[in-house]
Amino acid sequence: MTDKLRIAALAERAAGETRVCVTPETVKKFTNLGAIVAVESGAGLAASIADADYAAVGAVLGDAASVMAGADIVLGVQGPDAGLLSGAKPGVWVAAGLDPFGQRGRIEAYAAAGVEALAMEFMPRITRAQSMDILSSQSNLAGYKAVIDAAGVYGRAFPMMMTAAGTISAAKAFIMGVGVAGLQAIATARRLGAQVSATDVRSATKEQIQSLGAKPIFVENVAGIEGEGAGGYATEMSPEYQAAQAELVSSHIAKQDIVITTALIPGRAAPRLISDAQIATMKPGSVIFDLAVAQGGNVEGSVPDQIVDRHGVKIIGYSNTPAHLPADASALFARNLYNFLSAFWDKETGRPVLDEEIGNAIRLTQGGQIVNPRLL
Ligand code: NAD
Repeated sequence: MTDKLRIAALAERAAGETRVCVTPETVKKFTNLGAIVAVESGAGLAASIADADYAAVGAVLGDAASVMAGADIVLGVQGPDAGLLSGAKPGVWVAAGLDPFGQRGRIEAYAAAGVEALAMEFMPRITRAQSMDILSSQSNLAGYKAVIDAAGVYGRAFPMMMTAAGTISAAKAFIMGVGVAGLQAIATARRLGAQVSATDVRSATKEQIQSLGAKPIFVENVAGIEGEGAGGYATEMSPEYQAAQAELVSSHIAKQDIVITTALIPGRAAPRLISDAQIATMKPGSVIFDLAVAQGGNVEGSVPDQIVDRHGVKIIGYSNTPAHLPADASALFARNLYNFLSAFWDKETGRPVLDEEIGNAIRLTQGGQIVNPRLL
């Protein structure tokens, strides 16, 4: 029998990050697999998890250096700086949301430190990896939160209300981009009583929009992406498509009260979907929530973590939307990490052994080098 595998969970250090990568539930499950879980004191506080809650399920608590000492695997929501990893075992795994395209310098430092970095956002979109997919678990919550916070800023109600003092009409909400976040945004806006319409470049989303009781608004004269697209992801659209889309949006958006934009293209800046001129056609008091604001923004003029007023329209968007729901976002993120490691658990050695399909997709660095084809 080898030594017990040691898993380290640090407190997140990025500004505005409130999530934590392990919860008492996952500590317990890792412990049941035979691992030791060390958690930095205070790591769960912003997600409403006290040190005592971790200790109660057998976690070892301490400062960053003691947590890291002898670690085989370091977990994170975001990637810790390579400097924090000294004291870990040689070849330590770091499994977290590593923002591989945005944090190139940090990835290079992992390589130089001999770390094996595993980027959870590169998880392939295959059925058996669905429970390990942080993009899905976090986007789902982000889509919900975008609608809730847009409703909070909106100076009117969402549902139609018939009162003794007269009738209030239902808000009109338009969701642009119908991936995981967009689908949840549609469902949430519907639950609040809005009249919902939605658009995407992938034709497969049309039925999904209808099945949620919303109205699909699609470019018809230029072909979009048939079916799901590679791995379900969109690509950059042709200039003809972009022009047709702009025209369609212009005529639709002027009648909307709430617009939620969610469009992303992996590894690239977010596509621009709404121009300042289009915002000027909207009714004063309307609200736009730009979920892509941290990736460059779908909306002209959106600024992360600020309410921008343009032509009487409020534009909002967070640099880190899941961090505004820390308890649920942490619970799901922690389960994604547990589902990932436990799926590969080797009972003989008491540690995970990755296979090629998933291992090669998410591994960024190994043996002192950057090894992931998407980064070469
Ligand atoms: P995403 O976050 O990459 O993008 C959000 C949405 O924006 C997508 O629907 C995309 O098509 C759309 N978009 C991109 N450019 C646009 C433009 N110019 N105009 C309008 N819309 C635009 O997407 P996502 O949420 O990651 O989901 C993409 C797909 O992957 C979905 O169909 C989802 O169901 C699928 N998926 C599969 C798995 C799995 O099988 N394991 C896991 C998660 C998601």
